[in-house]
Amino acid sequence: MIKNINNKIYVIENDLAANSTLILGKKGNILVDTSLFPKKAEKIKEFSKDISGKDITLVINTHYHPDHTFGNIVFDCPIVANRLTREFMKKMDVDYFKHLNMENVEIKLPNVIFENYFEYEDGIKLVIYNGPGHTLDSSYIYIESEDILIAGDTIVTGIHPEIVPDSNLDLWLNTLENMPKSLNIVPGHGAISNEIEIENMIDYLKKIKQLKEGSISPNKIENDPNFKDRKHPELFKWSLENLIPS
Ligand SMILES: [Zn+2]
Repeated sequence: MIKNINNKIYVIENDLAANSTLILGKKGNILVDTSLFPKKAEKIKEFSKDISGKDITLVINTHYHPDHTFGNIVFDCPIVANRLTREFMKKMDVDYFKHLNMENVEIKLPNVIFENYFEYEDGIKLVIYNGPGHTLDSSYIYIESEDILIAGDTIVTGIHPEIVPDSNLDLWLNTLENMPKSLNIVPGHGAISNEIEIENMIDYLKKIKQLKEGSISPNKIENDPNFKDRKHPELFKWSLENLIPS
């Protein structure tokens, strides 16, 4: 499903799948995250042309995870990402694809690299910041003129966040505390929302930390609205396995 936040920003969302965001620029359009599927990325390319008559001239990856980067392959334009995103993608090998139940994946690495932040302007100005936590390379994009924050997986709405083996809860909380309290937040997964989701994520991760430390009981967490109202409990189970390896 495609939702527009305003006449310049469109979000391509679909249940569990990662959101992609299309930003209409002056000379060309900008795409944040390319989805797991090259076919879907091709459709977004067509949508860009249909809605504005313009091609996508810049791609941004919020982090290395496949559901945000594997559609890169269909784009010939510059692909911007944090230095670590490129490094982590370079390390993807046969074993990595196997663990995803995928074979012969042709990936395309980001080719414009930044360390802390990256500014881009084409009729609309956006700034990409490295905000580690979900993964070390996680980045988010702020468009001040529209008050829109494209959060990557640092924020998810309505479902449990993915706490992966390389997540760092303290860095993640620090990133959330420093994010712009934007009126429009595009999460990595889930529906478009607002600044309340920053507070929800902070609350969630703080409780996860307490659970890990043993200062809050699993029973209390299960009945907490910020946990029980989120869909896909299997993600929560998986996160716990990553946090507390047996
Ligand atoms: Zn992710």
